[in-house]
Amino acid sequence: MKVLVTGGAGYIGSVVAQQLLDGGYDVVVLDDLSTGHRDAVPEGAAFEEVSLLDLDATGRVLAGGFDGVLHFAAKSLVGESMERPELYYRNNVCGTLNLLDAMRSQGCRRLVFSSTAATYGEPAQVPIREDAVTSPTNAYGATKLAIDAMISFECLAHGLGAASLRYFNVAGALGPRGERHAVETHLIPIVLQVALGQRDAVAVFGTDYPTPDGTAVRDYIHVQDLGRAHLLALEASRAGKHVIYNLGNGAGFSVREVVDVAREVTGHPIPARDAGRRAGDPSVLVAASDRIQQELGWQAEKTLQDMVADAWAFARSRQPAG
Ligand code: UDP
Repeated sequence: MKVLVTGGAGYIGSVVAQQLLDGGYDVVVLDDLSTGHRDAVPEGAAFEEVSLLDLDATGRVLAGGFDGVLHFAAKSLVGESMERPELYYRNNVCGTLNLLDAMRSQGCRRLVFSSTAATYGEPAQVPIREDAVTSPTNAYGATKLAIDAMISFECLAHGLGAASLRYFNVAGALGPRGERHAVETHLIPIVLQVALGQRDAVAVFGTDYPTPDGTAVRDYIHVQDLGRAHLLALEASRAGKHVIYNLGNGAGFSVREVVDVAREVTGHPIPARDAGRRAGDPSVLVAASDRIQQELGWQAEKTLQDMVADAWAFARSRQPAG
């Protein structure tokens, strides 16, 4: 099976590209390298430096003949999306529209889209099911929700078979492929930067949430578990159907629990200082993954310890020697 991975030079896309190669798929990566890294594209995958905003170039890539597309290429910073929503709409929505056009023209009829649990916004109930109200609180989530609707209609009108996967906090690594952001805002990489001596302490954003230890609870999922879900969804896609699956670890972890696990894994004391809440952070975000478990037999296999240990091995491997 020949698969195109858009955004395959990024964190999640590069891991999934490697998993596809390991599973015997023929893989082509399309990425404009705006935030991705050329050296993250696995050996064995062909690489096309192309932007989805370039319809002609995208069409030329799709003309190579593909059985399916895994679509990760997107702008994905919540804060930036609120400052420059137009960038997010153009890049994410227009880029995906071009991709759908090119796939239709070339008869490529399977798609797995990397959506987000940010499509739900502030949840009325946790764990969050797929039938929860979608009311995104930021432009990033709004663009992904708009794309989900676009994909649904493409399936209805033109027989595409598609899945949208929605998840929260992705962590961990697959060997040399892990999280490498220019400006880090995510909890696990920041905590590991403290352990590496690159920061003095981690700020705990909010200690007065209505949770057992007062800190915010999130659903963390290992990037390898996430990748497996993408492969299963690709194989299961059916013409004319758009399915939506939430993915989670089955349990949430508080900020303090994450810091404690990182202390265990790294053996570093990781000083933490209490800080005020971060604007826009809900107290608890946990996904209900029953649907994908029932329909595709998917379940998260990795623990929080696995995620932190793999992210730690990756972070240390990127330290200059000596
Ligand atoms: N967080 C924190 N300190 C940090 C970064 C994050 O306390 O330096 C908290 C954040 O407020 C949230 C959780 O850790 O409750 C996960 O945040 P992250 O940015 O990793 O992911 P998000 O849930 O926002 O997608």
